[in-house]
Amino acid sequence: MLMERLILFDLDGTLTRTQNGHAPFNEAIIDTFGVVGDIRSVIPDGNTDPQIVREIFAKANVEMEFDYGPWERFAENLRRSYASALREGTTTVRALPGAKELLAALSAKEHLSQGVVTGNFEVTAQVKLEAAGLHSYLCRGAYASDSSHRPDLPKIAKERWEQRTGKFLRAEQCVIIGDTPKDLDAARQNHMRCVLVGTGRYPVEELQYWKPDACLADLTDTQGVISALFNL
Ligand SMILES: [Mg+2]
Repeated sequence: MLMERLILFDLDGTLTRTQNGHAPFNEAIIDTFGVVGDIRSVIPDGNTDPQIVREIFAKANVEMEFDYGPWERFAENLRRSYASALREGTTTVRALPGAKELLAALSAKEHLSQGVVTGNFEVTAQVKLEAAGLHSYLCRGAYASDSSHRPDLPKIAKERWEQRTGKFLRAEQCVIIGDTPKDLDAARQNHMRCVLVGTGRYPVEELQYWKPDACLADLTDTQGVISALFNL
Protein backbone atom coordinates (compact mmCIF):
# COMPACT_ATOMS: atom_id res chain seq x y z
CA MET A 1 0.00 0.00 0.00
CA LEU A 2 1.16 3.51 -0.77
CA MET A 3 2.36 5.62 2.10
CA GLU A 4 0.05 8.52 2.95
CA ARG A 5 1.72 11.91 2.54
CA LEU A 6 0.90 15.44 3.62
CA ILE A 7 2.64 18.21 1.69
CA LEU A 8 2.65 21.58 3.45
CA PHE A 9 3.44 24.57 1.28
CA ASP A 10 4.68 27.96 2.42
CA LEU A 11 3.03 30.83 0.55
CA ASP A 12 5.23 33.88 -0.04
CA GLY A 13 8.25 33.08 -2.17
CA THR A 14 7.20 29.45 -2.55
CA LEU A 15 3.74 29.34 -4.17
CA THR A 16 3.13 33.05 -4.66
CA ARG A 17 4.83 36.38 -5.21
CA THR A 18 3.29 39.65 -4.08
CA GLN A 19 4.07 42.96 -5.73
CA ASN A 20 3.60 46.08 -3.59
CA GLY A 21 2.52 44.08 -0.56
CA HIS A 22 4.10 46.72 1.68
CA ALA A 23 1.28 49.21 0.99
CA PRO A 24 -1.63 47.20 2.47
CA PHE A 25 0.65 45.89 5.26
CA ASN A 26 1.71 49.38 6.33
CA GLU A 27 -1.88 50.62 6.06
CA ALA A 28 -3.02 47.85 8.44
CA ILE A 29 -0.27 48.83 10.90
CA ILE A 30 -1.45 52.42 11.14
CA ASP A 31 -5.14 51.40 11.19
CA THR A 32 -4.52 48.99 14.06
CA PHE A 33 -1.84 50.64 16.18
CA GLY A 34 -2.17 54.31 15.21
CA VAL A 35 1.58 54.42 14.57
CA VAL A 36 3.47 54.50 11.28
CA GLY A 37 5.51 51.36 10.60
CA ASP A 38 7.22 50.20 7.43
CA ILE A 39 7.61 46.53 6.56
CA ARG A 40 10.44 47.53 4.21
CA SER A 41 12.59 48.29 7.26
CA VAL A 42 12.89 44.57 8.12
CA ILE A 43 13.51 41.23 6.40
CA PRO A 44 10.09 39.59 6.72
CA ASP A 45 10.88 36.34 4.86
CA GLY A 46 9.96 33.25 6.82
CA ASN A 47 8.54 35.20 9.78
CA THR A 48 4.94 35.26 10.95
CA ASP A 49 3.06 38.53 10.55
CA PRO A 50 2.90 39.31 14.31
CA GLN A 51 6.66 38.71 14.53
CA ILE A 52 7.19 41.05 11.57
CA VAL A 53 5.17 43.81 13.25
CA ARG A 54 7.12 43.38 16.49
CA GLU A 55 10.40 43.69 14.57
CA ILE A 56 9.22 46.79 12.71
CA PHE A 57 8.39 48.55 15.98
CA ALA A 58 11.59 47.34 17.67
CA LYS A 59 13.65 48.70 14.79
CA ALA A 60 11.85 52.07 14.93
CA ASN A 61 12.24 52.16 18.75
CA VAL A 62 8.48 52.32 19.16
CA GLU A 63 7.43 50.88 22.49
CA MET A 64 4.27 48.94 21.91
CA GLU A 65 2.12 47.04 24.36
CA PHE A 66 1.04 43.82 22.62
CA ASP A 67 -0.64 42.22 25.59
CA TYR A 68 -4.10 43.50 24.83
CA GLY A 69 -4.45 41.10 21.92
CA PRO A 70 -4.46 43.31 18.83
CA TRP A 71 -3.82 40.52 16.36
CA GLU A 72 -7.39 39.73 15.45
CA ARG A 73 -7.96 43.38 14.67
CA PHE A 74 -4.67 43.58 12.77
CA ALA A 75 -5.56 40.47 10.74
CA GLU A 76 -8.95 41.91 9.85
CA ASN A 77 -7.44 45.27 8.86
CA LEU A 78 -4.80 43.47 6.81
CA ARG A 79 -7.45 41.40 5.04
CA ARG A 80 -9.43 44.53 4.21
CA SER A 81 -6.38 46.51 3.02
CA TYR A 82 -5.17 43.59 0.91
CA ALA A 83 -8.59 42.96 -0.63
CA SER A 84 -9.01 46.60 -1.64
CA ALA A 85 -5.42 46.96 -2.94
CA LEU A 86 -5.93 43.82 -5.04
CA ARG A 87 -9.26 45.09 -6.31
CA GLU A 88 -7.70 48.41 -7.29
CA GLY A 89 -4.71 46.64 -8.84
CA THR A 90 -2.15 48.58 -6.78
CA THR A 91 -1.03 45.27 -5.24
CA THR A 92 -0.83 42.00 -7.13
CA VAL A 93 -0.40 38.41 -5.99
CA ARG A 94 0.65 35.90 -8.62
CA ALA A 95 1.27 32.18 -8.55
CA LEU A 96 4.98 31.51 -9.07
CA PRO A 97 5.89 29.64 -12.27
CA GLY A 98 4.88 25.97 -12.08
CA ALA A 99 2.98 26.32 -8.78
CA LYS A 100 -0.49 25.85 -10.23
CA GLU A 101 0.58 22.96 -12.47
CA LEU A 102 2.27 21.25 -9.52
CA LEU A 103 -0.74 21.65 -7.20
CA ALA A 104 -3.05 20.35 -9.94
CA ALA A 105 -0.83 17.32 -10.60
CA LEU A 106 -0.45 16.56 -6.89
CA SER A 107 -4.17 16.85 -6.24
CA ALA A 108 -4.72 13.98 -8.69
CA LYS A 109 -2.48 11.68 -6.62
CA GLU A 110 -4.02 9.21 -4.24
CA HIS A 111 -2.80 9.06 -0.64
CA LEU A 112 -1.49 12.59 -0.92
CA SER A 113 -2.92 15.77 0.60
CA GLN A 114 -1.67 19.31 0.36
CA GLY A 115 -2.15 22.28 2.60
CA VAL A 116 -0.39 25.46 3.68
CA VAL A 117 1.89 26.38 6.55
CA THR A 118 2.39 30.11 6.43
CA GLY A 119 3.29 33.13 8.51
CA ASN A 120 0.24 34.90 7.06
CA PHE A 121 -2.97 35.07 9.06
CA GLU A 122 -5.57 32.65 7.76
CA VAL A 123 -7.79 35.43 6.38
CA THR A 124 -4.94 37.03 4.41
CA ALA A 125 -3.62 33.67 3.23
CA GLN A 126 -7.08 33.07 1.80
CA VAL A 127 -7.10 36.44 0.03
CA LYS A 128 -3.65 35.80 -1.46
CA LEU A 129 -4.44 32.23 -2.55
CA GLU A 130 -7.66 33.33 -4.21
CA ALA A 131 -5.88 36.20 -6.01
CA ALA A 132 -3.27 33.70 -7.27
CA GLY A 133 -5.96 31.17 -8.29
CA LEU A 134 -4.55 28.44 -6.02
CA HIS A 135 -7.10 28.23 -3.19
CA SER A 136 -9.08 25.30 -4.58
CA TYR A 137 -6.09 22.93 -4.43
CA LEU A 138 -5.17 23.37 -0.78
CA CYS A 139 -6.72 22.13 2.42
CA ARG A 140 -6.73 24.11 5.66
CA GLY A 141 -3.24 24.14 7.18
CA ALA A 142 -1.77 26.37 9.88
CA TYR A 143 -1.31 30.12 10.01
CA ALA A 144 -0.05 33.04 12.08
CA SER A 145 -3.55 33.17 13.53
CA ASP A 146 -2.80 29.80 15.19
CA SER A 147 0.58 30.83 16.63
CA SER A 148 3.07 33.62 16.01
CA HIS A 149 5.87 31.10 16.63
CA ARG A 150 6.44 29.48 13.24
CA PRO A 151 7.81 26.14 14.52
CA ASP A 152 4.39 25.56 16.19
CA LEU A 153 2.62 25.58 12.84
CA PRO A 154 3.56 22.27 11.12
CA LYS A 155 2.23 20.22 14.04
CA ILE A 156 -1.03 22.20 14.07
CA ALA A 157 -1.49 21.58 10.32
CA LYS A 158 -0.79 17.87 10.77
CA GLU A 159 -3.28 17.57 13.66
CA ARG A 160 -5.91 19.42 11.68
CA TRP A 161 -5.51 16.98 8.83
CA GLU A 162 -5.71 14.03 11.23
CA GLN A 163 -8.88 15.35 12.84
CA ARG A 164 -10.50 15.89 9.46
CA THR A 165 -9.58 12.51 7.98
CA GLY A 166 -9.60 10.36 11.11
CA LYS A 167 -6.20 9.00 10.00
CA PHE A 168 -2.85 9.25 11.73
CA LEU A 169 0.43 10.46 10.21
CA ARG A 170 3.98 10.03 11.41
CA ALA A 171 5.98 13.26 11.23
CA GLU A 172 8.21 11.74 8.48
CA GLN A 173 5.14 11.44 6.25
CA CYS A 174 4.87 15.25 6.19
CA VAL A 175 6.93 17.45 3.87
CA ILE A 176 7.34 21.20 4.23
CA ILE A 177 8.06 23.08 1.01
CA GLY A 178 9.44 26.55 1.67
CA ASP A 179 11.90 29.19 0.55
CA THR A 180 13.79 30.16 3.71
CA PRO A 181 15.96 28.58 6.43
CA LYS A 182 13.05 29.32 8.79
CA ASP A 183 10.82 26.90 6.89
CA LEU A 184 13.55 24.29 7.27
CA ASP A 185 13.94 25.04 10.98
CA ALA A 186 10.18 24.64 11.52
CA ALA A 187 10.28 21.32 9.64
CA ARG A 188 13.27 20.04 11.63
CA GLN A 189 11.74 21.01 14.97
CA ASN A 190 8.75 18.87 13.98
CA HIS A 191 10.86 15.98 12.56
CA MET A 192 9.30 16.59 9.14
CA ARG A 193 11.04 16.51 5.79
CA CYS A 194 11.79 19.74 3.96
CA VAL A 195 12.26 20.85 0.36
CA LEU A 196 13.52 24.38 -0.24
CA VAL A 197 12.99 26.32 -3.46
CA GLY A 198 15.11 29.21 -4.70
CA THR A 199 12.23 31.49 -5.72
CA GLY A 200 12.25 33.70 -2.62
CA ARG A 201 14.99 35.91 -1.20
CA TYR A 202 17.59 33.14 -1.10
CA PRO A 203 19.21 31.64 -4.20
CA VAL A 204 19.31 27.87 -4.38
CA GLU A 205 23.10 27.79 -3.77
CA GLU A 206 22.58 29.48 -0.42
CA LEU A 207 19.67 27.23 0.53
CA GLN A 208 21.79 24.15 -0.15
CA TYR A 209 24.14 25.26 2.59
CA TRP A 210 21.37 24.57 5.16
CA LYS A 211 21.08 20.96 3.93
CA PRO A 212 17.36 20.51 3.34
CA ASP A 213 16.23 17.05 2.18
CA ALA A 214 15.99 18.45 -1.34
CA CYS A 215 16.65 21.77 -2.99
CA LEU A 216 15.06 23.06 -6.20
CA ALA A 217 15.61 26.18 -8.27
CA ASP A 218 11.84 26.58 -8.75
CA LEU A 219 8.66 24.53 -9.21
CA THR A 220 8.54 24.55 -13.02
CA ASP A 221 9.57 20.91 -13.58
CA THR A 222 6.33 19.33 -12.34
CA GLN A 223 7.43 15.71 -12.79
CA GLY A 224 10.86 16.46 -11.33
CA VAL A 225 9.32 18.00 -8.21
CA ILE A 226 6.96 15.06 -7.83
CA SER A 227 9.77 12.51 -8.07
CA ALA A 228 11.83 14.55 -5.60
CA LEU A 229 8.88 14.45 -3.20
CA PHE A 230 8.39 10.72 -3.56
CA ASN A 231 12.09 10.00 -3.17
CA LEU A 232 12.60 11.82 0.11
MG1 LIG B 1 8.17 32.19 2.29
